[in-house]
This record gives sequence, structure tokens and C-alpha cells, in this order.
Amino acid sequence: MRALYGSVCGSFGMLLFAQADITTGSIRTTSVETSSIDMTAIDSVDECRATQICIDRYLWSLYDRTRKIDTIRVPEQIKVSVKRKGKTKIVTKTITKIVDEDFTWKDPKAAERAGMSPEDYVIGGMDPTFRVTLYHALRALDDAGLMPGITCAFRDDYRQTIASGLKAQSDRSYHGGSFRGGYGHGLAADIVSVKGETRAERLASSAQL
Ligand SMILES: [Zn+2]
Repeated sequence: MRALYGSVCGSFGMLLFAQADITTGSIRTTSVETSSIDMTAIDSVDECRATQICIDRYLWSLYDRTRKIDTIRVPEQIKVSVKRKGKTKIVTKTITKIVDEDFTWKDPKAAERAGMSPEDYVIGGMDPTFRVTLYHALRALDDAGLMPGITCAFRDDYRQTIASGLKAQSDRSYHGGSFRGGYGHGLAADIVSVKGETRAERLASSAQL
């Protein structure tokens, strides 16, 4: 499992993804402490199936409780006066503004387009084995009082085209681009902490998480 900062859905989000080995059903994980995660359940495929509904419900609750706000860069054209050879001229200059973007509407819109409920779309689109890994990681963080939340999980090519900021090509996203296998094969989720009353407090909690 790898953690990357500055991901697409939360400017201070953490991107979790694992690569599942389809032939063995095992998960290769790297560079994240897994000592607090119970790996036995992940290895047991039967147990995964029995608990999948509970896992999906838990993951959805973490998605549902998380505000989807991102900080994006927007180019804006402004007019400025400059003096050239003693004459004042008005020229147009492009500046970059940092603004907050509420992207709550994006997943429901993509789900509707795919003819699914938001839960089936966002959570159900992730690889089942990855969902189990994610569940254990988030449960451990929750138990540690870090209050994790999910801002983004499965995304199809369409959803990727309406994503803002630093992002993968539409079909190449590990969130579930068609090049990666599409629906049911999403191997990424963007994680933040929902702990704190203000956005600044939540950003600090997310850094801690
Ligand atoms: Zn992401």
C-alpha cells in the first residue's frame, strides 16, 4: 500500500492503493505499517465474502460523512495598466487563483449516468479484495481516534474527465479507469481525516493521519 499526498480529490488527501495479484488472490503491500491490521481476514476469501456487505456499508459511511471540498487553481484574466515609453497601456494578464471547490455533486452525477446508486458506484466499483484491505486499514485508523473519511473511491472514465487538479489520464486512473479494468477493479481511495470543526483543523488532522 502506498500513500501519496496531493492527490486529485483532496489537496491534503492521502491516496491508498494496493495492487492485487489476480492469479493468487493475494495482495502485495509496501511501505505502510500493517502491524495493526489483521491480515488473516484478508487471506481468507470465504470470510471476505461473508462480510462484504458489512464492509461495504462501513466504507460507504466513511464516504458519506466526509465533505468533498478541494483546493484548485483557477486561471483568471485581469486588466492591469503598464507604462511603456511614457504611455499608459491597459494589458490583460493571466493570474492563478487558489479557490475552494465543492465536488460533492460529481460522484452522484457519474453514478446516475452509469444507472447505479451512489453507493453501488463509489464503493461497489472497487476491487472486492481491495475493499477488505481498505476496511481493515480504516478500522485501525478509526480505532486509533484519527477519524478517517473517504473523499473518492471508484471513478470511471467519465468521472475522471470531470475531476480537477493533478490527475491521471481518463482511462488510466487506479480509481477504476477502463485501462485498469473499469468497474469492480478500482484500486484507489482518497483518504482524509474528518476530525475538527474547521477546515484548517481537518487539514491538520489529515496530516496527522
Ligand atoms: Zn485519487
